[in-house]
Order: sequence, then structure tokens, then C-alpha cells
Amino acid sequence: MINPTERELYLEEIIIKQKLQLDKYHSLENLLSQLLEKIREPKTVTCKYKQMTGHSRKRRSGNPCPPNCQISAHRQWGDGCQNAHWIQTKRRKAK
Ligand SMILES: [Zn+2]
Repeated sequence: MINPTERELYLEEIIIKQKLQLDKYHSLENLLSQLLEKIREPKTVTCKYKQMTGHSRKRRSGNPCPPNCQISAHRQWGDGCQNAHWIQTKRRKAK
């Protein structure tokens, strides 16, 4: 078996360092695109009902909350969610 010369070892070291540098740039690129995604205006927001109660509104009557309680970013509540929350708070206070 041939032992690698010092020069070969040195070159190998440089290549490894360059690779690590490239990996760093790649993760930076990912990080930047993730940040950009967050900065961009969101199309949907989580319904206030879910934000306050921690769960989606139960589908019993009326319009159920959309999947994952995602509603248009221009609104705060899903259809009927504010009303449902108001009624539930009222009931809880009555007890
Ligand atoms: Zn909702």
C-alpha cells in the first residue's frame, strides 16, 4: 500500500475545508429562503378561536372552521367562530 504523501494529505485537507464551506453556504441559502418566506405577507392566518382555545372549533352546527383553522389574512375569525367563542365564554361564566 502506498502511503499518501504530505502534499496529498494537504490537498485533501483543503478539499474537505472547501466542502464544509459549501455546506455552510447551502444552509445559509436555505435559511435565507425560509426567512423570506416568513417576511412575505401571509395569505392565511390561524383563526382567533384556535389561538385562544388551542383547538379547532367543533363542527356541530353552522359553518365549520376551515382545515387547521386557516382563514384569510384579512380576517381574524372563521365563519361563526367568534359567535361560538362568545357563547362558550358566556356559558362558562354562568356556571
Ligand atoms: Zn375558527
